[in-house]
Amino acid sequence: MSEFISSNPDTVKCPVCNSTETIPIFKKDVLPLYNLERHYTRESALNARKGNVDFYFCLACQFAFNAVFDSSLMDYWVDYESGRSYSKYFVKYIDSVCRSINDVFSIADQTIVEIGCGNGDFLIKLRELFEFQGIGFDPSCKIRLLDSSQKDLTFISNYYDSAKVGREPDLIILRHILEHQGRVIRFLKGILIEQRLKPKAIYIEVPGFEWIVKNKNSFLFSYEHPSYFTKYSLRLALDQKTSKD
Ligand SMILES: [Zn+2]
Repeated sequence: MSEFISSNPDTVKCPVCNSTETIPIFKKDVLPLYNLERHYTRESALNARKGNVDFYFCLACQFAFNAVFDSSLMDYWVDYESGRSYSKYFVKYIDSVCRSINDVFSIADQTIVEIGCGNGDFLIKLRELFEFQGIGFDPSCKIRLLDSSQKDLTFISNYYDSAKVGREPDLIILRHILEHQGRVIRFLKGILIEQRLKPKAIYIEVPGFEWIVKNKNSFLFSYEHPSYFTKYSLRLALDQKTSKD
């Protein structure tokens, strides 16, 4: 059952600004639920769980979303591989991201929480460059051996829980997490309001919808990415995180 759509297609409501000024932009039936789930046999791949996408674009706030997304189908307790650290080009990019974050928010001696840390590569790269206390959360995170230089890092194979952090995080990192959320405002409220977090800063990285349109990358309209932001709609979502969802 969709969280956004009613029986009347004219009343598809934007989950960021609640406007019904939305237009359909991309529809496809039967896509795998997960882009990056590993399958070891052809039969397993063919039998992967699937869902439908029906993307709408909000004319009021420029947010694009899958109107038939059902978050209850997605738990990420699957064999999931999002690592790209084997790519030298990507590692160079990540290095630049780490340094850019530190340019804005001095990382040394801070407590940093990454929600949706994947296999932990980003926090480990950040720790190679700067000294801080880091905690990563992700249901798909594998327990990994850390070397002595990474003793300040902890990885928890579960959803984010402030009780497991022990102290108020100074910086929260959300890299490629928001595009996976069907209810973006509820998600932001969940981590910032209900868990009473007041970090000094939040770093957010998402695929830009402007880039998708410019490059005509329709393959990015997948089931596990129900939410695509422009800069404007992301700013609006952050402004609205305290409003009623
Ligand atoms: Zn909107």
